[in-house]
Order: sequence, then structure tokens, then C-alpha cells
Amino acid sequence: MKRLLSAIIVGGGLSFSAASVSAQSPLADAHIHYSHDAWDMLPAEEAIKVLRRAGLTKAFVSSSSDEGTQMLYRAAPDLIVPVLRPYRRRGETGTWFRDATVGDMVAKLLARNKYAGIGEFHLFGKDADLPVPRRIVSLAAQYGIFLHAHSDAEAVDRIFAQHAAARVLWAHSGFAAPEDVAAMLAKHKNLWSDLAFRSEHAAGGKVDPQWRKVFLAFPDRFMIGTDTYAPERWYYVIDHAEWSRQWLADLPGEVAENIAYRNAETLARWALGSPDCTTGAPGTTVAKDGYGLSYQLEPAAIQVGQPFAMNISVCQAGETPFDGGLRVDAMMPAHKHGMNYKPKVRKAGRGSFRAEGLMLHMRGEWRFNFELTAATGVVRMGVDYTQQ
Ligand SMILES: [Zn+2]
Repeated sequence: MKRLLSAIIVGGGLSFSAASVSAQSPLADAHIHYSHDAWDMLPAEEAIKVLRRAGLTKAFVSSSSDEGTQMLYRAAPDLIVPVLRPYRRRGETGTWFRDATVGDMVAKLLARNKYAGIGEFHLFGKDADLPVPRRIVSLAAQYGIFLHAHSDAEAVDRIFAQHAAARVLWAHSGFAAPEDVAAMLAKHKNLWSDLAFRSEHAAGGKVDPQWRKVFLAFPDRFMIGTDTYAPERWYYVIDHAEWSRQWLADLPGEVAENIAYRNAETLARWALGSPDCTTGAPGTTVAKDGYGLSYQLEPAAIQVGQPFAMNISVCQAGETPFDGGLRVDAMMPAHKHGMNYKPKVRKAGRGSFRAEGLMLHMRGEWRFNFELTAATGVVRMGVDYTQQ
């Protein structure tokens, strides 16, 4: 196994040349897994070296378990686009959608870490309407992130029927024929398609004529991907990047660049640029009635009797940013009194707010209260806070 690793790192046995590496154009790989059985063979820093050697500017990574993705993300936050795979180990692809603990795990991780999407998950036909997948679709909507679905056309249709504004990245383009992929892209404007683990769209640096038609008709929907579903597949990341550059060069420049990296970057930016309700420290995130809220204190360690501010992000189900009102207050439930000052809240951007003039005048158990004024009514959420 160690020998395999060094072969990957030094490029031994691989077919790229130094010249083509130095001339490499940017590339985003939308389909990388770093699952538990790869961790020993290829430690995180070494895996990052492979991705960089392939000339990737972005890599969408999802892993069984998610800890693999977190390891890579910590090692290279500029490169890794974290995607939350709902699997703890290999072998859950056929059971997860009937396993309620999966929904709980996904909800917990979404509240703790930052993700651009949920997937890659395997889901076919009517199973898409089972309770666990439904919960996954609604969590993606709540957090404004995409779904990476290894699915047939029917399951993709069912996901969009559940949530019309969902964004779906169709893994392997559903292994469907080019004309069927085109039909799906025409039907769903928020559907993207990765070409992972497929090769029939190009040979010898030439794009297949049927696929060329589809690429030109939908230049902003396709992305490339390697799919490192087994540890040995990490061998192919660099090779695959080289092969991709060759056939992309056969397409008009702008279309080639879109498929090479721009479409992936656009989707990642949409997901990660949305109101961020997931990066708060533990205990600073709360969700209710389809709304998620997270806050950060400024300064981080607030002092008794000293004014402080709060930066707050609010997400809501669907992709519209929360544009209602927000009130912030704090009280001591045991003492039944609030603060001595009334804080001012102002909008600070898409779904984000800043509250100033807060002050806790006593040590003890406080509760921050948030009151959202939404179109559908008032939603109240609270988070306990101990002032030391
Ligand atoms: Zn995969």
C-alpha cells in the first residue's frame, strides 16, 4: 500500500509528461471520495498533493465517513469543496434511504460544519420519496446547498417534485445516453451533470459527435469528475485530469473552460456564498420551523458589564434569502429579567444581520432570544448562554 502511495506522488507509472503538467489549465473535479479505506494508504497531506499535482483548482469531496472530507478540508480549505456524504462506511449505498439515523447524522453535521452539498448518495426510482430522502432534500433547501445524486431520471424528477428550487448535481450524468441527459437538462434548469467514471464521450482527444451537441446546447451544466470510489482510484486522478484536458481542447474555448472548472466553481459559490448558518461554534446554531440561525459574538469572549455585538446569519427553506425582520434580546430565565439596554439590529447583507449594544450585566445563566418576523408569521428561537 505504501508503495502505491509513493507511485502516485512521484507520478511513477503514470502517463503525463512534465511539459503538459506545466502547461496545465485549471480544472475542477466534481467527484472525489476520500473514504476510510483510503486514509492509511494516502494520508490527507499526500491526497492533497495528488489533487494539486493534477492541477485542480477545486475538488468536490465527499467521504464515508465525513471525517475523510473534514481531514482534506482542514489540510486545504482553498481547494476542497466539502460535500456531506450520508454514509458512515462503505456498503451503506443500498440501505441509507430507509435508515432514520442517517437523517439525524446529516442534520447534526450540517449544523456543525460547512458544506456545499449533500451527497453523493445512491437513490433510484420511488425510493426518492421515502421519508429519509425527503428529509435530506428539505435539509439541502434549508441550508441552500446542492444534492449530489447518483440516481436514475425518475429519482431526479421526484427530487424536483419535492422541491422545485432544489439544485441537483447528477452524478455520472445518470449513466444515461447523451440525448436522455439533454432531455433532463432541458426539463430541469437547476440540474447539473458530472461526467465521472464515463469515457464514451471522448476518445483520442476527440469529443463524440452526439455528446458534442449536448455540451454545446448546455455549456453551463457539465463538470468533470474522477470518482475515487475505491482507494486504488486515487491512481487515476492525475491521469484523468490529463485525459480531460485533451478532449476539452477539442471544444470551443469558452465551452471547454465552463466544463473544465467554471460550472463547478459557480455551483460551489452559489452554495457556499449563501447565508451561512452552519459555521457557528457548537451551541451557537439553532433551527426551527424551516429557519436556521447562527451567531458569532464580538468579541468572542464577552465580559460582564461590557458591550458586545453579535453577527447573525439566518437561512430559510428554499433559496430566497431571509429578508424579514429580526429582533434580538437576552434574558435570565431564573431571574425573569432582561438586559438593561435595548440592542439595535441592522441588516448586514443577504440573510445576515448585526446586533449592537448588547450587554450582560450579571454572571450566570442567560438566554439569547431571536424573533424572526417572516411572511408566514413570527418565529422565536432561543439559545442558552452562560456568562462566566
Ligand atoms: Zn462516486
